[in-house]
Amino acid sequence: MNKERNPRALPKGVNRVAIIACDVLRNHAAELEKLYPDIEVRWGDISRGAAYGRASKCERFIRMQAPSIRSADDYATLVHEYGHILGPWQRGGGGHYSKPRSGRMIEECGAWVWAMENAVAWTPKMDRHVQRHLGWLAERAEHKVRRGNTRIIPPSSHVYWKLAARG
Ligand SMILES: [Zn+2]
Repeated sequence: MNKERNPRALPKGVNRVAIIACDVLRNHAAELEKLYPDIEVRWGDISRGAAYGRASKCERFIRMQAPSIRSADDYATLVHEYGHILGPWQRGGGGHYSKPRSGRMIEECGAWVWAMENAVAWTPKMDRHVQRHLGWLAERAEHKVRRGNTRIIPPSSHVYWKLAARG
């Protein structure tokens, strides 16, 4: 039986701040690279637009569209990508909480859970980043639900809906 992580444990250990200097976030990104030397972070050179990242759990690399950490959003994206490799509910075997049950929405949520638990600090802006992302995924899933495919939707008790409603 899958054990659900206690949602109330989520904010614990997260240092909540209103605003945080980019240097602090950059330093922590460098620390993460030292802490997980087997995960390669490949930085891109596209400096416009919203932060975008991609992670491969099997090959253990993270590709970041940004040339460096330029904002709280970039940082949130980076720790989220680490979450796709190290966090709960990810495909590709061996997630440390439980196996994925419902596909992408729960995987994305798991990556955010890891990000929030391991970030140097968490700001309201990062909350909104999570909310936007999970809200967007839920909207995209709606047409599948209308066609009767509810398997992909996290149960109403899942922490997904708490994170999607924050901000
Ligand atoms: Zn993701």
